[in-house]
Parts: sequence; C-alpha cells; structure tokens
Amino acid sequence: MQLKQDLHIHTIFSTGDGAVVPQQTVELIAAINHAEIIGISDHFDYLTGDIFYTYEKSVRSFGFQLGTEVDGYNWVDDAIQYSFDYYIYHCHNTEADYKGAEKLLSTGKPVIIAHPQALDTDLSRVSPKCLIEINNRYVTRHNWRKYYTPFLDQFKFILSSDSHQPHWLNHVVAEYAARELGVENTIIF
Ligand SMILES: [Zn+2]
Ligand SMILES: [Zn+2]
Repeated sequence: MQLKQDLHIHTIFSTGDGAVVPQQTVELIAAINHAEIIGISDHFDYLTGDIFYTYEKSVRSFGFQLGTEVDGYNWVDDAIQYSFDYYIYHCHNTEADYKGAEKLLSTGKPVIIAHPQALDTDLSRVSPKCLIEINNRYVTRHNWRKYYTPFLDQFKFILSSDSHQPHWLNHVVAEYAARELGVENTIIF
C-alpha cells in the first residue's frame, strides 16, 4: 500500500549522517516507490557547493520533490540561495531559530518544522504558516499527546518517515499518533 506523500527522506547524499546506510540511494527509493509524492530532504550541511547540482539532478531525474533539512538559523541564508522546492527545518528553542523559520517562509516555499518535540521547539513562537511534522522516527520518544494537543487548531500537520534506511520508508507510527490526535496529513504538492 502506497503512502500519499513522504517528504522527509535521507539518502547517501547525507554523507556525514551515520544512521544512513549505503543502500539508501535515490535509485532504491524510486524502485521501492512507497509514496505517490516523494521528496528527498538530505541535510543541507552536506549539500553546499558543487555537490548540490549532482543531488538536484539525481532527485529530479526520478520526478521527486527537491528538499533539504536545514539545521537552524546559521544555515538559512545559504539554504535560500539554492533551488529547493521546500524546507525541513530544525527549529531549536532559540530566538535566532524562530527568526530563521520566518526567513525561510519569506521565500514562499513550504516550511516543515522537523520533529519539533525532539528539539524542544516552542510552537507558540512558530508562525501558523509553517507545517508541523509528525515524524515517524521520533514521535513516540516524547509525550506527543501533551506536546501537540494545545496546537491542534493552530497548525496544519504533515506526516514524515525521516527515513535513513530502506525499511524506515513508512508512516505507521506517525499515522497512529495523528489518528489519536485527530489530525489530517497535509498534502502540499
Ligand atoms: Zn532532523
Ligand atoms: Zn531528517
């Protein structure tokens, strides 16, 4: 059974991320084809410079959305120089990182707040224009019910696998949490 959409997926382009296995190639993700809409979102830290163009070509060759995961404010100015379709954003609980989210939004592209309860993101400081992630990898590591419940009417939510390995390409845990919270997965492409 195919998912409708999965926009938080890592591949071997995240060269410094030890959780990514060598089999996690863009080609294999295309072959598995677990979702109707697929976006690849490797860590921006490893995509700057010429490698970006190899990444872009590879991701686009399969008709996938071109995303990236941006680790806080310090990377934002660089990230907006590249032709990504959307951003997955680490918004730590700092003044600068909330500003970084605003700056990403100013591009007009979708901004997804990555696994916010794992980063202690204060959702009351995040623009309702951001999409809030329910992340299959992290959601049950925290008290997700308590964390998300005050904000259910304020945001749109999006389910993501945050896959680093082929067998992580699913939403079973995120779907469970979303069902319990009574929220819909927002389809953005
Ligand atoms: Zn992350
Ligand atoms: Zn990630």
